[in-house]
Amino acid sequence: MVDIKRLVRENVVRLTPYSCARDEFQGSSGIFMDANENPYGNLNRYPDPHQKMLKASVSRFKNIEEEKIFLGNGSDEIIDLCFRIFCNPGTDSALTFTPTYGMYEVSASVNDVKVIKIPLNESFQIDMGKTEQFLSDKNLRLIFICSPNNPTSNSMNYADVEYIISKFSGIVVIDEAYIDFSEKPSFMKLIGKYNNLIVMQTFSKALGLASVRVGMAFSDPEIIQYYNKVKPPYNISTLNQKAALERLAKTDLYMKQVKKIKAERERLAVRLKEISLTEKVYPSDANFLLVKVRDANYIYNTLIEKSIIVRNRSSVIGNCLRITVGKPSENNKLINALKSISL
Ligand code: PMP
Repeated sequence: MVDIKRLVRENVVRLTPYSCARDEFQGSSGIFMDANENPYGNLNRYPDPHQKMLKASVSRFKNIEEEKIFLGNGSDEIIDLCFRIFCNPGTDSALTFTPTYGMYEVSASVNDVKVIKIPLNESFQIDMGKTEQFLSDKNLRLIFICSPNNPTSNSMNYADVEYIISKFSGIVVIDEAYIDFSEKPSFMKLIGKYNNLIVMQTFSKALGLASVRVGMAFSDPEIIQYYNKVKPPYNISTLNQKAALERLAKTDLYMKQVKKIKAERERLAVRLKEISLTEKVYPSDANFLLVKVRDANYIYNTLIEKSIIVRNRSSVIGNCLRITVGKPSENNKLINALKSISL
């Protein structure tokens, strides 16, 4: 068991959280004269700061207790809160396996936290030899593991990740934004076993609500308490809580979409491999493909001229494009556009 309190910034341990009007009285009917709201309208009341209905629904959907759930304004808010809770600016550090999702580093910089970057090996897996020495570093507070990883699209080796969680005396954050597109198991089942593990998921990918901004963190209740302490009181709007609740009421739709996207991913990979510009299509556990091409900059710009926007990842992996799986008609247009490019 990791001593969580020792890892939390002292100012956060001491913090008296803001007590909002809706914390004091929690009923839904009555004459509300406590929050300086306008008494007229439909959206005039502040949202539930604890998102109780949505958490109950997420709890059923993910089969995990409500006290182990935190909801953020997208996973991006949860990433930022990780730094605010666990890292003393200017002193502590965080570790990432690169290339990976850019927000870990951006949030670290915003919070004046140093980032140790360990490159993934040739198979885009964690280089355990290079990682081991950092597991006992006292100023290292957070290790971010993105699995399936953006932009490499593969999942990290389960045994390697569990080894890191078990040996590290800081917090391991596993970002599972793309887990629904993967056949590999989620790390959520390790939450009861290790109290230093946070698993993040999101409504933005498979659940199809990127515009709604709801991210989920699952962890030990002690860690969740600190997130509740530092979060802005009304971090998820009433409209957004409602949209997420409605989505969870129709999970069959989401499951059908995921199935379709996975089938399209395989079809798109086959079609891309047939094109002469393609050098490699990496195996994917996500809803995107990492594709090595002959001249990524040229192809990227030519596709833009044809109003097809992919992500040029050449700056992080030589000559690679990251292509999100679209609808079948969109994927066909991409294939035809690529076929028309001569190099
Ligand atoms: N994690 C990963 C790995 C991502 O790729 C993204 C967005 N592209 C996010 C988190 C952000 O998720 P959210 O929309 O929930 O903030």
